[in-house]
Amino acid sequence: MKNIWSKFENLFMTDHKCMSCGREIKDKTKFQICNDCKNKINVINGNLCKICGDEICGTENIKICDRCKNSNYAFMSNRSLCYYDTVPAKIIKKLKYGKRKYYAKHIAEMMQSLVTCFDNIDVITFVPVSSKRRKERGFNQAEEIAKELGLISNISVVDALEKLYDGKTQAGLSQKERRENLKGTIKLKNEIKQEIKGKNVLIVDDVFTTGSTLHECASVLQKAEPKKIFTCTFAKTKFNMPKN
Ligand SMILES: [Zn+2]
Ligand SMILES: [Zn+2]
Repeated sequence: MKNIWSKFENLFMTDHKCMSCGREIKDKTKFQICNDCKNKINVINGNLCKICGDEICGTENIKICDRCKNSNYAFMSNRSLCYYDTVPAKIIKKLKYGKRKYYAKHIAEMMQSLVTCFDNIDVITFVPVSSKRRKERGFNQAEEIAKELGLISNISVVDALEKLYDGKTQAGLSQKERRENLKGTIKLKNEIKQEIKGKNVLIVDDVFTTGSTLHECASVLQKAEPKKIFTCTFAKTKFNMPKN
């Protein structure tokens, strides 16, 4: 009975309720989010790091943030819509653990403008999850966002990567440790090589933390010889705190 109800509930919630606070949206808003919550979202803009897409404080002449100077990411450039504070975190949590798969569509609508930041994207792909995670959540949130993004941007989406197993939990690990931990956990699906070769590829994920997962995905994807690899995420943790 509970399952049936939650299915109905999802249907009702699709059109009228804020993804973050769940309240009825009364004012006209462009996205599935009420004005109160929208105002709390910290959209990333201004002078951005050419690599990770973080805001750079200080002079406009700085093009790459301190952290990216030594990061050697396997992707060319990342763009994220907003910082991962309370409202985006709530939305992601509800999408991943609250069985609100339809949030992916609304998140993709918000992310659509990011796709145009890059040179012509030929193909979209996504960060894979292990079969264990997929079973737990019922879907891969990055895949769902990527599919919706592909639909609204009219770009084909390919299932290019496979997560073989989950490494140790990433929380609390440094970037170097995260990269080590992820090595060998992601595999390229051989049958898609031709769809990637010579193309500009965009890898989609929900959150950019240290960029280690996207780095690993991009390193693996390099084997298919794409032209350029870009990445985009809904939210991003802030690296470059303002200097006082
Ligand atoms: Zn709200
Ligand atoms: Zn950076």
